[in-house]
Formats: sequence, structure tokens, C-alpha cells
Amino acid sequence: MDLGIRGRKAIVCAASQGLGKGCALALANEGVDVVINARGEDALQATAAEIRAASGVRVIAVPADVTTAQGRAALLAACPAPDILVNNAGGPPIGDFRDWDESQWQKAVNDNMITPIMLIRAVLDGMIERRFGRIVNITSRSVKAPLAHLGLSNGARAGLTGFVGGLARQVAKHNVTINNLLPGAFATARQTDGLRKLAAKANQEYATYAKTQMAAVPANRFGNPDEFGKACAFLCSADSGYIVGQNLLVDGGSVNSII
Ligand code: NAP
Repeated sequence: MDLGIRGRKAIVCAASQGLGKGCALALANEGVDVVINARGEDALQATAAEIRAASGVRVIAVPADVTTAQGRAALLAACPAPDILVNNAGGPPIGDFRDWDESQWQKAVNDNMITPIMLIRAVLDGMIERRFGRIVNITSRSVKAPLAHLGLSNGARAGLTGFVGGLARQVAKHNVTINNLLPGAFATARQTDGLRKLAAKANQEYATYAKTQMAAVPANRFGNPDEFGKACAFLCSADSGYIVGQNLLVDGGSVNSII
């Protein structure tokens, strides 16, 4: 299936590994030039080289912290008129509500709500003028089914979801779409790290704990960032303009609801 986006330009945030990398690779494999970013430069350059070799597209690596105004400015300088924006950043830490003071709440809201909103604000008018834009926010299944130990994520991402739900409906008439992808459990560094902490808390070996978690997923496995990336590429495709303001779970069936 040709997604019709060959030659388009994308910014993919937080993409040296994990879900962001999966999205950047899938877009590059569709012929999209990608600007990717992460804070750690070595891993970012290695990923850029890998994507270049796999796809042959132009890949620009911008080492920067996307949660800062300077980091976002560096990304936009590398790609001032993107056709596609994939918003992503590291997720907030797991914990108990008593652990999270005002500064931690401010960080979670900044990183997982204000950061994507600021990037959307910067690119939206250009997309409207060019009559093409695809924005995908990587959020979490915790938006639909809150996870107790991920309260910072539940809260900050719900705020983003509410805002873009309204905005998406204002800009759809210009062939600019905004949708959210809601990952369940994916085999990434973040997920493994979180599971290790939860296993230690439950006094269990990591392997045993992870197996139980996997068995709780109807697909009986953790997701693969490549398949997540392909879902993202579809939402960025030429023919996806009628998919507006949606929250698509990619979770192996974990959230038990039908609508
Ligand atoms: P990951 O494997 O830890 O990868 C995170 C990527 O983001 C890395 O490339 C990291 O590179 C980059 N990054 C982190 N903070 C950044 C920042 N401030 N500025 C720029 N780049 C940054 O994480 P992941 O599992 O792919 O998760 C991605 C997002 O999806 C997170 O928000 C996570 O909470 C959410 N999510 C993941 C899952 C899952 O199962 N994996 C489930 C639900 C939600 P540097 O550290 O070098 O910057």
C-alpha cells in the first residue's frame, strides 16, 4: 500500500529509540525525509545512520531536549515547514500520588502537555496554508484507562487529549489532522525499566513479573515499536484526512472496551 507521502517532510520528536524511532523508521520507509531528535547525541546519530541506510531518505539528527523552548527552536530550525509532526517525549516517572510535589506536576504537564502544544502551535498555520498536515501525538492507554502508578501520565496526557480534541475539529477542513496514538505495553527501554521497578516492589524476579504482565495482554505479548510506527505512518498518510481527533489504542487489546 502506497501511503502517498513520498517526498514529505516530518519532525519526529524523541526518536533515538523506542516508539519514536519506530515512527521515524516507518515514515522514512514511506519516502518521508525525517528530522529526529533526542538528548543523547551518540544514540541519536546511530539511529539516524540506521534509518538513512534502511530507507535512503534524508535524515537530520537534532540533539536537543524537546521539553525546552531552545530544543524546540532547534528542531523547527532544522525543519521550518514540516508536513508531518510526531509529538513524543519521555514519560513521567511511576509512583504514588504522595511522591509528586508541585514541581513534579509542573514537569509532567510541561513535558507531556505543553511541549506538544507548543510544537503544534508553531507548525499549524503553515500546514493550513499548504493544505496538508498530519500531526500524531504519542500519548498512552492511560488516557482511556488510568493506571494508578502512572498518575502524572494520566493527568498530563488527558489535558493534551482534551485540548487537541477541540483543535483537531477546527483545522480538519484544511486537510490538517491531529490524532493521538495510545500505546499499551511495548517492548522498549522505558517499559522494561518500569517493569523492573514494579517487579522489585512486588518482590518478584523481573522475568516472572514480565511474563505475568504479558499474559494479561489479550495478544499475549508486548508490542513491537515497528508495528507502532506503521500505525503512525498510516495516520500520516495522504488518504487519512477523514480520521480526525481520534484516540487510537495500539495495545494488543489491553483496554477492555468496545468504543
Ligand atoms: P524509550 O524507549 O525510553 O525512548 C524514549 C526516547 O525519547 C529516547 O530516544 C530518548 O532519548 C527520547 N527522549 C526522552 N526524553 C526526551 C527529551 N526531553 N527530549 C528529547 N528526547 C527525549 O521510551 P518509549 O517506550 O518509546 O516511550 C515513548 C513515550 O511513550 C513515552 O512518553 C512513554 O511514557 C509513552 N508510553 C510508552 C509505553 C510503552 O510501553 N513503551 C506505553 C505507554 C506510553 P534521550 O533519553 O537520549 O533523550
